[in-house]
Amino acid sequence: MKIALCASEVVPFAKTGGLADVAGALPLALEKEGQQVIVIMPRYKAMQNSSFKVQRLKEGVSYSLIGKDIKVYFIENDAYFNRDGLYGDKNGDYPDNLDRFSFYCKRALDLLREINFKPDIIHLHDWQACLIPVYLKNLYLLDVFYKNIKTVLTIHNIGYQGLFPKEQFPKLGLDWSLFAIEGLEFYDKINMLKGGMMFSDIINTVSETYSKEIQTKEFGFGLEGVLNKRRDSVFGILNGLDYTIWNPETDKFIAKSYSINTAKDKSKDKEDLQKLCNLPLESDVPLFGVVSRLAEQKGFDILAEGIDTICRMNLQLVILGTGDLKYHLIMEDMVKKYPQVISLHLKFDDPLAHKIYAGSDIFLMPSKYEPCGLGQLIGLRYGTIPLVFKTGGLADTVNQDNGFIFDRYSKDGLIKTIEKAVAGFKNKHKWAALVNRAMKCNFSWDASAKKYIKLYEKAKTK
Ligand code: ADP
Repeated sequence: MKIALCASEVVPFAKTGGLADVAGALPLALEKEGQQVIVIMPRYKAMQNSSFKVQRLKEGVSYSLIGKDIKVYFIENDAYFNRDGLYGDKNGDYPDNLDRFSFYCKRALDLLREINFKPDIIHLHDWQACLIPVYLKNLYLLDVFYKNIKTVLTIHNIGYQGLFPKEQFPKLGLDWSLFAIEGLEFYDKINMLKGGMMFSDIINTVSETYSKEIQTKEFGFGLEGVLNKRRDSVFGILNGLDYTIWNPETDKFIAKSYSINTAKDKSKDKEDLQKLCNLPLESDVPLFGVVSRLAEQKGFDILAEGIDTICRMNLQLVILGTGDLKYHLIMEDMVKKYPQVISLHLKFDDPLAHKIYAGSDIFLMPSKYEPCGLGQLIGLRYGTIPLVFKTGGLADTVNQDNGFIFDRYSKDGLIKTIEKAVAGFKNKHKWAALVNRAMKCNFSWDASAKKYIKLYEKAKTK
């Protein structure tokens, strides 16, 4: 099959979040499965000083290579993309994001013809690429080159929709009739994601549970009705984890490497982490790790409510992350009150994240909602038992057999489950068996890529 993957950020070229990880890893896994893949993304300023080789294709288009033979095409436009940020700066979103990403979508479609690559599937990601199916099914409808190209839209987080004032609609080059309930209109605004959802052949999210959750009022951010109407075309495929990066056997950042057969060595990483964090060197006290944005979505509201009680339990807690100031302040207070229990690192620090995944006993991730989640997958691979709220991708990857999971989102639910984990940690034999089961879990990209291929096959029948 021929697949064109269109995303606004792709590892290793540009990244602000998990979207880039998926857009960078999935093409490689698809290529391994024998598929022919190209990738199309904007060319940002941030890429100027990077080490990968970029070659010029023609005016306004350059490309680089990943995997064995995957071309990643960069759509250029200095006025739009030669800026420090991808989507905005400290003042917020760039005001011309509609112009920027409608340009990207149109150019991506034109490029297919220019390089004579007619894909079976365009796999587009998030609102930035959502005009592709809209244009395909409207502006390009009668053009034979584009006939029979099918589209799959993956939504990585439905909270981000690309909303713009309706006065900007004429810039899209679309007929005003598309500014309607059955088109891009959403409470009198332009909603790019909705456009993508209306015109893609298949809609997909990054876990099965999240694909169902977003069809409800609680999780749908207003788009549950649209998804409900299209429910026969809505699917969920879990993201994979890049095991070349996240592997305790080869991890260069951790004090002592270990595998499923030498999981005992993990205790050396715990000791290293305790030293680094100025926590007492106690092997019998369970060490909880958090690597996260400090945000309500990540469960910091209930964690903040319960933190005083939690700090009085027989445990240690290391938190790495940045986010809402109010959570910074609450956690800083706790460090003052319980310096022997909690260690706080308000920053983004990849090496420290690796040390926390390896050195902790339990990975705490009580997200209120979680489209897929990577932290719990990394925790499992490192034998660091995830403790999660039952939602989205967390519900699809963590269960009683490999972790701790609670199903009522509340401070009490969280505290009770932490108590359970603390009690469970006392039984060394059972705990070692739990670590073993966790480390056996496999969430590789290979499995997810196979599922995507099946989804593409389904799209071809639409
Ligand atoms: P998100 O919703 O933030 O994308 P995920 O769980 O999907 O959440 O992925 C977050 C990724 O970012 C994980 O790999 C996690 O280890 C990493 N991460 C988050 N915060 C930090 C931080 N402060 N320092 C280093 N890595 C971080």
